[in-house]
Amino acid sequence: MIPLSPAPDLDRYRACLLAGAIGDALGAPVEFLTRREILRDFGPDGIRDHASAYGRVAAITDDTQMTLFTAEGLLRARVHARSVASGHGSPTAAPDRAGCVLLVANAYLHWLLTQREEPQTQARGDGLLGVAALHSRRAPGHTCLSALERLDQLPEPARPLQAANGSKGCGGVMRVAPAGLFCAAWPLTDTELSREAFALGADLARITHGHPGGYLPGGVLSAMVALLAREVPMRDALARAREALVTFNGHEDTLQAITAAERLAAQGPAHHDAMVQLGGGWIGEEALAMALYCALAAESPESALLVAVNHSGDSDSTGAIAGNLLGAERGMDWIPQRWLEGLELHSLIDAAATALARVD
Ligand SMILES: [Mg+2]
Repeated sequence: MIPLSPAPDLDRYRACLLAGAIGDALGAPVEFLTRREILRDFGPDGIRDHASAYGRVAAITDDTQMTLFTAEGLLRARVHARSVASGHGSPTAAPDRAGCVLLVANAYLHWLLTQREEPQTQARGDGLLGVAALHSRRAPGHTCLSALERLDQLPEPARPLQAANGSKGCGGVMRVAPAGLFCAAWPLTDTELSREAFALGADLARITHGHPGGYLPGGVLSAMVALLAREVPMRDALARAREALVTFNGHEDTLQAITAAERLAAQGPAHHDAMVQLGGGWIGEEALAMALYCALAAESPESALLVAVNHSGDSDSTGAIAGNLLGAERGMDWIPQRWLEGLELHSLIDAAATALARVD
């Protein structure tokens, strides 16, 4: 009999999504500032606490919005699989990947509705679509918007769930942490889990991002989050994610980026100079590598999350991904109360993480 890993640790689930949202919110006020401008506005240590963006303090951005919609699609897939299984009198089975991709794509089309003009009038409907605060544009990625607009124009049976564009933007990876959490709740061995979570994360990113550099980082993040949630150490989780990565065509750029992150992390505590060498984070493999570097080289998780946002590039996305990794690795204890307090949609994010940890 194959030994199964322990049940998922709810604390790590919650921390994965909450620290991700905190990284997103810390990065929001500085997303479009250079490092020089950040230091000018926030002092020599850069931004260290929530500040104002989008008309409020501790605002989340499109990264966390889409993460929530990823979770909602996956949870709907689970409900669907459960009802099909009970119709056949069989025990609840994990939903198949194609079903998950379809329902997450539908959830992304709901997110697209929240990004329309005059958004508040749309705040009705089931689930997240009925949450008025989500009907707000937070610098959504052009690729996500255009790919989903294209999907929305096609009748459902004809919808291609793999984007035909060549985008390697970071909008694919920044939203797929729930895929790892979702997979980690099922009774799979760590080897099966790594493969399954990688494939699901990559497929979900590929709904909008057609270049391997856009969707394979989603696979790496999902696999790592899944393993971290099972208490696999960070470096072992990375090694397993890398094993899955190299089985995919077009993996070279992503492999090179995460290898560079690992090499720099071996040189000492997370530092801005190393971040510059990894890029700006606007594309998938760079955002993943920068976040991964911070997580691997963390002197403390708190300082690592600050390194993840205090740079000239895509601060909210690198902050979100770093937060996902650090939260899944370490649970809630390290997260400063002042970062949790006032975080936009805190309860909703917490509820999504709690729901993902359940399998019954
Ligand atoms: Mg954003």
